[in-house]
Amino acid sequence: MNLRHYVRDIPDYPKKGITFFDITPILSTPKAFRYVIDQLYEKYKDSGADKIVAADARGFIFGAPLALKMGIGFVPIRKPGKLPYKNRCVTYDLEYGSDTLCMHVDAIDEGDKILMIDDLLATGGTAEGMVKLIREAGGEIVGAGFVIQLSFLDGDEVMRAAGVKHDFLIE
Ligand code: AMP
Repeated sequence: MNLRHYVRDIPDYPKKGITFFDITPILSTPKAFRYVIDQLYEKYKDSGADKIVAADARGFIFGAPLALKMGIGFVPIRKPGKLPYKNRCVTYDLEYGSDTLCMHVDAIDEGDKILMIDDLLATGGTAEGMVKLIREAGGEIVGAGFVIQLSFLDGDEVMRAAGVKHDFLIE
């Protein structure tokens, strides 16, 4: 399966100079979608993860079916004001400015083994924020899986510096 074939490059989106990697062709093609979930399953089935943690919105699309296949829980991370129960949040620095991510206070128990899933690793800012939030909640990160890694950006280095072993399907 040439998964790259199902990722559409959109030049100058959301702004000039950025190429957006659109994963919707994967989602609309059952054999490609299934392939992604099966590949991630093979990578992580023996990881010992208790829960998958994924960020709004495209992380949910891959994280939820993988959690179901692995027979483990799924924890959503969202922007402030989106989760209805008590929130635990972290604010983390980006190249320009900062961002905040939240999850429910009871989503992770002390010592839970966590697998992080997202569609794409770019600068690593989002993933780094997730790492901070998961660790503050007492979670132990056993891995981070991405469908796509943009190897010309720093995500790889950021994951290494955070001490998180990560993997991806295409770059
Ligand atoms: P970053 O925090 O820079 O690693 O960005 C990761 C998040 O932003 C992921 O959740 C992606 O969904 C999204 N993202 C960043 N850059 C792109 C891109 N070029 N194409 C598609 N999604 C992107």
